[in-house]
Amino acid sequence: MSISSRAEPSSILPDLQQEIARLAATPDVKAACAWLRSQESQFAQWQMEMARIPAPPFGETVRSEWLRHRFLELGLRNVHSDSVGNVFGVEGDPDKPCVALSAHLDTVFPAGTPLNVRQEGSRLYGPGVSDNGAGSTALLAIAAALLHARVPHALPILFIGNVGEEGEGDLRGMRHIFSDLRYRDQILYNVVLDGAGTDTIVAEALGSRRFEVIARGPGGHSWSDFGAPNPIVVLAKAIQSFSQTSLPAAPKTTFNIGVIRGGTSVNSIPESASMRVDIRSTSMAEMESLEASLRQAVERAVQEETAASEKRISAQKRSFGLSHEMVVIGDRPAGELDRNARILQVIRAVDAHLGNVAQVQRASTDANIPLSLGREAIAIGGGGTGGGAHTLQEWFDCNGRELALRRILLTVLALARAIS
Ligand SMILES: [Zn+2]
Repeated sequence: MSISSRAEPSSILPDLQQEIARLAATPDVKAACAWLRSQESQFAQWQMEMARIPAPPFGETVRSEWLRHRFLELGLRNVHSDSVGNVFGVEGDPDKPCVALSAHLDTVFPAGTPLNVRQEGSRLYGPGVSDNGAGSTALLAIAAALLHARVPHALPILFIGNVGEEGEGDLRGMRHIFSDLRYRDQILYNVVLDGAGTDTIVAEALGSRRFEVIARGPGGHSWSDFGAPNPIVVLAKAIQSFSQTSLPAAPKTTFNIGVIRGGTSVNSIPESASMRVDIRSTSMAEMESLEASLRQAVERAVQEETAASEKRISAQKRSFGLSHEMVVIGDRPAGELDRNARILQVIRAVDAHLGNVAQVQRASTDANIPLSLGREAIAIGGGGTGGGAHTLQEWFDCNGRELALRRILLTVLALARAIS
């Protein structure tokens, strides 16, 4: 996920503050917290076992099966997987409106990446050990603690290990869940666990749209076919005009041309050329308007190069024209949580209770999907500290995990209206 900070929301409600203090002082919740404190070696074990199972984008099956078995062992109800590989288990009545706690199972690492997962003292090493080993371990830890302590609460808690958060996965796991009307109506709050730490609350979804723009022409010999339209020139002209599009400072909106490819040799007119473009904004409207400028820039470039080619080439030697295509290779919707949303008030009251300092931030996470649908969702860390995300040197330090687990437990219980 990528992050930037935003303005702090309104102040914490005193009633809610008292409710959290009351909840934290109940014998059941105290028992759950004590249990969480005593289980760190089990948590590190789960985390390493999981990290040893490769989970590249579109290849999460073995890891999701592993999680399904853990859910069954713990005793969650209605444990099952859906058609894309998301795993579900419920604590409480599976048919009632619920609070969802989710963590993505996939990593950015392609199949065949050497994993070499290991522990040295409080540190775990290995690709994916923190992102999202930290989040998925917290998911299991909370399920286990709730089943252990049997804290009564009004709303059921739905545990989800989902696929497809990273890169080309393009949030496909969450998208699948929220395209199912049953879940869309049933999930009242969604707490997403992603990565390590306790110092952030992602409440604003950074949207992105990614395109592959392809221009094609007849190609030819650089000397004898001179004049034929050139796809590389089309892209160059499109980039030149698109990159001059004026952007608002707020809501922040950006673009990047990240990859350009095309042609075969210096003495051939290319038959095709392509580029990859990334568009981001917190506003859907701004993303749509920037996408429209990209389309216009490409269409105009095709027309200009066609006209220029017609001038270059003799009427007898007219070649076939240019074509172009704009393929969507990524689409993450933007969205934003209402400042007064209960989920935001609850997590802030929990942080105040725990003396934890966290900043409200904007990022691209699984929470983009519920947030873009106007649902209440946040993304927070699974505790500890981590580094080297998306590299082979990734690490996670278990110190501080306990604070995050208490934070998640209190948040989920307050949202599920625990009877305190
Ligand atoms: Zn992640």
